[in-house]
Amino acid sequence: MPLKRGIPVSNGCCIGKALVLDAEEIRVPRRHVPDTMLAHEQQLALRAFESACQEIAEERVHLRSRVGGDVVADILSAHEAILKDPKLRQEVLDLIHDKHYSAGSAIELMMRRFQRRFEAEPFLHERVRDVVDIKRRLLRHVVGEARQELSELTESVIVVAHDLTPSQTAALVRTNKMLGFATDLGGATSHTAIVARGLGIPAVVGLDNISSLVTPGDMLVLDGTHGVVIVDPDEAQLEEYREQEQRRVELIRSLEELRELPAQTRDGTPIELHGNIEFPEEVAPCIEKGATGIGLFRTEFLFMRQGPEPTEEDQFQVYRQVAERLDGKPLIIRTLDLGADKYVHTRAWEPEANPFLGLRSIRYCLRHREVFWPQLRAILRASRHGNIRIMFPMVSRVMELRQAIYLLRLAQEELEEEGFEIRGDIPIGVMIETPSAALCARELAREVQFLSIGTNDLIQYALAVDRTNERVASLYTPHDPSIIRLLREVVRRARQRQVEVSLCGEMAGDALSALLLIGLGLRRLSMSAGKIPEIKKIIRSIELADAEKVAARVLRLESEREIVNYLRDETRRIIPELV
Ligand code: PEP
Ligand code: MG
Repeated sequence: MPLKRGIPVSNGCCIGKALVLDAEEIRVPRRHVPDTMLAHEQQLALRAFESACQEIAEERVHLRSRVGGDVVADILSAHEAILKDPKLRQEVLDLIHDKHYSAGSAIELMMRRFQRRFEAEPFLHERVRDVVDIKRRLLRHVVGEARQELSELTESVIVVAHDLTPSQTAALVRTNKMLGFATDLGGATSHTAIVARGLGIPAVVGLDNISSLVTPGDMLVLDGTHGVVIVDPDEAQLEEYREQEQRRVELIRSLEELRELPAQTRDGTPIELHGNIEFPEEVAPCIEKGATGIGLFRTEFLFMRQGPEPTEEDQFQVYRQVAERLDGKPLIIRTLDLGADKYVHTRAWEPEANPFLGLRSIRYCLRHREVFWPQLRAILRASRHGNIRIMFPMVSRVMELRQAIYLLRLAQEELEEEGFEIRGDIPIGVMIETPSAALCARELAREVQFLSIGTNDLIQYALAVDRTNERVASLYTPHDPSIIRLLREVVRRARQRQVEVSLCGEMAGDALSALLLIGLGLRRLSMSAGKIPEIKKIIRSIELADAEKVAARVLRLESEREIVNYLRDETRRIIPELV
């Protein structure tokens, strides 16, 4: 039973059949065909081999005629040689004949076996990508035309993919057929992971080669809490994971009774717990879990859905509905944070070498007023329908914030001239997501009414670790002394200026960090809905003075390991069942 370990990103365990998506989202169901179809499927497979060879020959001629095309042309020759290998073709024909597989299933299975052989030989390892390429080429010819839409899935599956974008993940979730997902790439705070957590879908990322290890239809156990995927589990493993899931569900149920109780420490210090949302439908789960507001609405996800880009009116309707659903509870609408790992199909993006350091977020908005302006107007128009606040992301210097606020004021004037009734004093906030913003928190705080610390980005920029890159995932941590010192600085500066400060990165929902964050002085935390009960339980179990002692001690520790061990011991002492 191959067992793969990756990065756990969304709690929960699921058991089900694998649906393997390749990079082009070609879905290859394992299909059996009746006797009468065997000859047809064999013809289909042979035609796919022929068409792929022909395609390669044409590409090679084209490349050879261009300067510098030789290397690629040679690779294509190697591909062609594989495709012409009579043994390979015979294996596919035999699979169709003996096992009654469809042409697509037979090619998929045979190429996977081939790929595993390559992976097992160190000197062939480099060629694995070639095999994957050949497989895609063949499958395009076989199932390309018969490509089935994911939305047409009829049974629940565990999705296995090389990588998933946040919008693919959201689209898959909307089919209601995805039990969980596993990917080769990704990190714990990539937006794909955040979407999974927000929607309560178990997920493991950074599994290296899971998409080539698993064959469509394989039975899988996916443990999103511990980051484990088991292929073809035996009965004992299935039982173990069913029990584990049962215990988790019971724990969640036991936390439900806290829903109506206030989030306050034993000595009565109130801590506001808010929810983070990507989609309007997430408001209800946040309220159900006990959120007393929405501390982060990632509005860019409205742009990442299929269909045309939302207009000012579309956005106004959404912001208004969300505010009304919250019935007076605060709603922080963050302006568009596009770019880096969040792209939209409606905007053709110039590829950037370092997109996380590129034209993303507020930088993109200030450069592309045609998208920023309608959003500012929509938020302002919605502002009188609820307790709405506006927040600007990824600010790295004071001038950027001033420009954004200036545009907001202009939009306000324009709306007033047009006769719209809007709230003139909408509270403005800024996210602290870059080390420069953290170090200049005092200056930024002078311009706004609140700060919100985005640790997901702050960590990646402070430690120089790409949050989506599984290869450096072990270096990505909220518990590095540098991060904790940055947090302390921001909280201090905000307090000095008497400006509210909250934290809305994933660290807010991390059970191990709760004591520390409260001890550092944070009184508002915003997180995925599913994390709220657990964090509330911790808060209700502690004394403020203890949390402050913990924070003071952590600030004296010098390494991540010491900090994690210490926080684990302290949290376990107070509330053992959550650690
Ligand atoms: C953050 O960076 O911590 C944050 C909340 O924003 P996002 O995860 O959307 O980048
Ligand atoms: Mg961010």
